[in-house]
Amino acid sequence: MKAKVVNDLMQDPLLYIEFEDIPDRILFDCGYMFGLTLREIQKISSVFVSHTHFDHFMGFDHLLRMCIEQDKTIEFYGPLGFIDQIVGKLSGYSWNLSENLDLNFKCFEIAPPVIKSTLLKACNAFKLEYIEEKKFESCIKRGNGYSISTSVMNHKIPSLAFSIKEDDFFKVNSNLFETLNIKPGSWLGNLIRKVNNNEKITENIDFGNGISYSEEFLAKKLLYLQKGKKISYIVDTAFTDNTFKDGIELIKDSDELYCECAFLNKDLDKAQSTYHLTAKQAGILANHGNVKKLFPIHLSKRYNGVYKEIFEEVMSEFPNVFSAYKKKK
Ligand SMILES: [Zn+2]
Ligand SMILES: [Zn+2]
Repeated sequence: MKAKVVNDLMQDPLLYIEFEDIPDRILFDCGYMFGLTLREIQKISSVFVSHTHFDHFMGFDHLLRMCIEQDKTIEFYGPLGFIDQIVGKLSGYSWNLSENLDLNFKCFEIAPPVIKSTLLKACNAFKLEYIEEKKFESCIKRGNGYSISTSVMNHKIPSLAFSIKEDDFFKVNSNLFETLNIKPGSWLGNLIRKVNNNEKITENIDFGNGISYSEEFLAKKLLYLQKGKKISYIVDTAFTDNTFKDGIELIKDSDELYCECAFLNKDLDKAQSTYHLTAKQAGILANHGNVKKLFPIHLSKRYNGVYKEIFEEVMSEFPNVFSAYKKKK
């Protein structure tokens, strides 16, 4: 799993998540997204919106335009009021000729103590027909090979922080094929599946030329457990006792934390009045969350040209700070 920061660090924060072996593509926040290719956008399977300030949600129309002719269902997750806001955006267009379109939006509104959901279909003019409710749980999505959790932060309105965790998975030590004088084949996929599903491994595998091994031997010899990666994303929140406690719990032991560093601590009053984090506070979160790497994002434009000062302030609290944005050549 890897994360790409799409825009310059002072622009709209947008994190694009892709996997090696899983087709899903995930977007954290939905602001200005012209840095994504058409192909990248058309592969998106779910979008997680922290809150609906303009810089986190204006890309919805662009995504809609790029995907409108696709035959698929995209999931959208957002905070309190989200379903009304999606319906509001969609109702700004005329859909009288859309009956043959196959695009659907499955929308989830994270509003503890409940999660509301609905399905909006292009073929039905994206009309809101029903809203279902289920009990809120912090794990809001279980994907095939990963899960996504959230915590509600405080941006004077609810703002969602997210964390994505890959499942632990078995990898193959392919260097040993030659030593054992065997070749990979369908037996290997079967063996990994059985081990993953905790099924019994009692068969013998015949490789021809008098070579055969028990599944148990091959599993012990060839397979090893790789820990799944964890990536967390926090933007646009005030630093309060509650956001600190919930934030730490969410990001605990992350391999990578992408966190807003909106203000320098000398402008703490500005950070507090606009419900944003300072660079120092982002460092404190990373430190207490025991994360491995911190990537500052969503820096206030007022500091244009003084990235260095922001990075230095983060590093006074947490040393492993990296710049996420790679300029395209
Ligand atoms: Zn905001
Ligand atoms: Zn923002």
